[in-house]
Amino acid sequence: MNFDAPLTIALSKGRIFQDSLPLLAQAGIEPTEDPETSRKLILDTNQPQVKLVLIRATDVPTYVQWGAADLGVAGKDVLMEHGGEGLYEPLDLNIARCRMMVCGRPGADLSARRLRIATKYVNSARRHFAAKGQQIEVIKLYGSMELAPLVGLSDLIVDLVETGNTLKANGLEPLEHMADISSRLILNKASWKMKHSSLAGLVEVLREAVCTD
Ligand code: AMP
Repeated sequence: MNFDAPLTIALSKGRIFQDSLPLLAQAGIEPTEDPETSRKLILDTNQPQVKLVLIRATDVPTYVQWGAADLGVAGKDVLMEHGGEGLYEPLDLNIARCRMMVCGRPGADLSARRLRIATKYVNSARRHFAAKGQQIEVIKLYGSMELAPLVGLSDLIVDLVETGNTLKANGLEPLEHMADISSRLILNKASWKMKHSSLAGLVEVLREAVCTD
């Protein structure tokens, strides 16, 4: 692909970076350094017009929303919490797939009054239980949600589940499905207008490259 405008792509290290690389390669974009060994936050690519910025997963929508990056890859879980303001979400990249679930001890009562839910997905949890007409108390955590019901901090948790092994190892189980999660391509709305030919071309190449099985 030819890029006739400078493009900044926001990615988070780890799963999203690793799974995005083969897709970007289909568009002829390859980083010139490995982020796992480099400490740089801005990586050049073989395309002089294209650079990558490496940021925390929860910050990717913010960088794209404010135009500090033209596009990025963010999990649907992160977008649901962010709200998606100022962003286009043109493509499901079908990577980093998992489910957002309500989880707890086996047989936990989901209909109890004033359930206490520990999660980092505060907005998603509130919306889910509000839609069921249930009042809940949400406790915001930043990690290791599985611990909360074990030490009496909460009745339930809302977390991402892939294999279910983490829950099982802690005597918990998935109780209620909330959303299917995968990573999405997101675009800054102004960039989409100003750099339309480069971005539209890239979206189409990525659409072709996405694995749909
Ligand atoms: P698992 O044991 O395979 O069910 O994985 C659960 C753990 O991995 C939890 O701590 C989740 O927060 C995390 N996890 C699973 N899938 C994803 C994903 N797609 N993106 C980010 N974290 C994930």
